Amino acid sequence: MASIELTELLGGGSRPDLTDAELARLSDGFETASAASIIRWAVEEFGTRLALTASMTDGVLIDLATQVDPGIEVVFIDTGYHFPETLETVEAVRRRYGLNLRIMTVAPQERSLWEADPENCCSAVKVGQLDRALADKDAWMSGLRRAEAFTRAAAPIIGRDIRGLVKVNPLATWTDVDVRGYIADHDVPVNPLLERGYLSIGCMPCTRPVAPGEDPRAGRWSGSDKTECGLHG
Ligand code: SF4
Repeated sequence: MASIELTELLGGGSRPDLTDAELARLSDGFETASAASIIRWAVEEFGTRLALTASMTDGVLIDLATQVDPGIEVVFIDTGYHFPETLETVEAVRRRYGLNLRIMTVAPQERSLWEADPENCCSAVKVGQLDRALADKDAWMSGLRRAEAFTRAAAPIIGRDIRGLVKVNPLATWTDVDVRGYIADHDVPVNPLLERGYLSIGCMPCTRPVAPGEDPRAGRWSGSDKTECGLHG
């Protein structure tokens, strides 16, 4: 069933009460839809109760989303551990799109927490700040893609997170080639670390560049079993 038919089936207006079955049907219906149409659905459905979270690896999702809603709230979590290049990208993207940007800052942590207990560090620093940012939201969007890692291969386009909020991944079906093509066609700002082999960019102490052929996220928490920070749960 085409996505537009699914949307009509579910009716218009704000629908924070969408059931899991309805979300699954919408997600399936959007499998072949454009990212712009998925974003448009989310903006029309949730309005100001929708936020976009950005890792600032590149500005692709922001470029797409601000074409639909120039005032969409964009959340960036400043962990205090970011690479200088990531913070430069925040400013480049802010200037380029005139963003409604909400930067969540974190009280200084014990310096060794990321080393001693990365799960707790991510939980306190990243997940805790995301919880705060989403406290008044019904839904959020991220640039998560299935091609980024085998752990993300089954990610839905629309689902529900552990908070009960609707989670929208408009780029879920995009390949690396799709992303590179969009960046080139639209002159989208990118984090300069990408050119230096950092294909997935997180906090400085927990991120290394990856070798050719390695999983793009192999450089995150390298040498440990940890693969996700918990933001996308
Ligand atoms: S990625 Fe590393 S430094 Fe950043 S919040 Fe997680 S454990 Fe802490």
